[in-house]
Amino acid sequence: MIKTKINNYLHKVENALLAIQKNDLFIDYIQNQDQNSKNIVQNLFINSMYNNENFFQLRFLDKNGIEKIRLDRKRHTNNIFVVKDEKLQDKSKRYYFTETLNSKSGEYWHSKLDLNVENGEIEKPLKPTYRISTNVYYKGKFYGILIVNVEMTKLLTALRNNNQFLVYLIDNEGNFILNPNQNKEWGKYLNNGHTVFSEFPDISEDAFSSNTFNEFGYIFPLKDTFTNNENIRLLLKVKDEYLKNVKTDNISYAYTLGIIILLISLPIGLIISYPVSKIYMTTNKLYSENLRYIDTIDKYVITMTVGTDKKITDVSSALCNVSGYKKEELIGEKPSIFKSGEMDDKVYKDLWSKITNGFVWSGDLQNKTKDGSVYWLKTNILPNLSFDNKVVESYTSLSEDITDKKQIEIISQTDKLTQLYNRLKLDESLENEMNRFTRHNDIFSIILIDMDKFKSVNDNYGHQVGDSVLIELSEILKKHSRKIDIVGRWGGEEFMIICINTDIKGATHFAENLRTLVEEYKFDVVKHKTISVGVTEVKRTDNIETLIKRVDEYLYEAKENGRNKVISDLES
Ligand code: GH3
Ligand code: MG
Ligand code: MG
Repeated sequence: MIKTKINNYLHKVENALLAIQKNDLFIDYIQNQDQNSKNIVQNLFINSMYNNENFFQLRFLDKNGIEKIRLDRKRHTNNIFVVKDEKLQDKSKRYYFTETLNSKSGEYWHSKLDLNVENGEIEKPLKPTYRISTNVYYKGKFYGILIVNVEMTKLLTALRNNNQFLVYLIDNEGNFILNPNQNKEWGKYLNNGHTVFSEFPDISEDAFSSNTFNEFGYIFPLKDTFTNNENIRLLLKVKDEYLKNVKTDNISYAYTLGIIILLISLPIGLIISYPVSKIYMTTNKLYSENLRYIDTIDKYVITMTVGTDKKITDVSSALCNVSGYKKEELIGEKPSIFKSGEMDDKVYKDLWSKITNGFVWSGDLQNKTKDGSVYWLKTNILPNLSFDNKVVESYTSLSEDITDKKQIEIISQTDKLTQLYNRLKLDESLENEMNRFTRHNDIFSIILIDMDKFKSVNDNYGHQVGDSVLIELSEILKKHSRKIDIVGRWGGEEFMIICINTDIKGATHFAENLRTLVEEYKFDVVKHKTISVGVTEVKRTDNIETLIKRVDEYLYEAKENGRNKVISDLES
């Protein structure tokens, strides 16, 4: 519900593939390839296609090019279905497989922007198609490729129907992929004889390959966007009616706006706000007020302007759609109206300190809609400087809705039994904290917790009761930690808490508290259980291994000393 139309287009494709690749359910599947994990991954694929209505095929091919999982979408009904095992094919000879193999790990291969072919013939009505794929590696081992087919019709139609510009997409031979007159498109495949040279007889090869303004309009290479070999170019001609309305006599200004619009409409595989903000910054006379005169921006781009008094002065319709507020309800309010309450205050502090000092802030924000549901925005906030660049006059944010991606990310970081963070997330956080410590000297401490005599719970009451004890313990740990602490399941009946910006005194005190809380807590069936705890603060000479080894030794010492104990740097 909280998706802007444009978010369903190609800039989500690479993110969608990345989200699958990083998902531990998928990692589980590629390693084991059993039926059970295959079913789970098929559901993951269904979810991904569900969230990306322009995907019409999503596949995993193994390292030999054999289709292992394939989901198709029916053209007319839009239904998504899993293709049966006996219909899966060998695609090892197809160009998309061999070309993907030649791309590097972590990179995305892009096909030509062409027409879909079914059974050897161009599918009618025409179905402009784009494929994006990536190699799947895990811990250095190659498992196959993930590939998605994306239908481009809607995107191309949206571009064709631009209010301000005549928009053309042209391939390296001058054929039209897009033309304001639809009948002139796809000359390369349909041999209709229309090319950029027949349309503009005076255009020279030089003018066609230049990247600047000329009498034909603005020609702009999209090779960073469509990273295939077609060298697709964008030709923009401003519509006469629109020129009259532009609040400046500067034609390049009008074109810059046009490019911003197109970058927003065409951000394939790029994080949308990045190039936009870059252009925005380099043409810093473009004020948000002017930007908002452009319908397309208002409709599709989540933007907001806030005055130096921290009150909202303007919002785009796209932000209203995402947040569920009406424009009138937002103007004059503080941006904190959007806060979900789940984020650490430090994020907002850092944000304000950056932008009030004239810097751009970039990051992910978790917000709540008017009716309380959570959504995520990847946001860039830009200070708007006065003409002499001396004072900040207001702030403009440009955001992308990344809720889908975050949901998958959260699932892949969460332990299924306890809903705490899983080992993957703990490992990642330890690495982050270690980096912050080496670079900025931000200290942290870790607490390792192990249930005492837990095996006897399983032995006496069964595994299910054991599970619910783990859940109850997790709730205690979560409830008494601070928001910024990272509480996770280290494995089995062991838990770790990473205490950010906390020295050994603070962490030991906290651990002692937890030990008492558990000692006094009455578990559902088993009643009384205790924990043993190790606590240590990071040291200059540490790496992650030595840090963990030390806290593990303290935990062992606590067990040796009769359990239900905390051992830390202080006592050892
Ligand atoms: P100690 O006080 O020395 O830690 O004794 P212990 O019995 O807790 O230690 P041990 O490591 O020998 O046993 C841990 C047990 O936890 C073994 C394993 O079966 C059980 N366990 C690990 N993960 C789970 C789980 O997810 N659910 C349940 N029910 N039990 C689990
Ligand atoms: Mg144990
Ligand atoms: Mg134990």
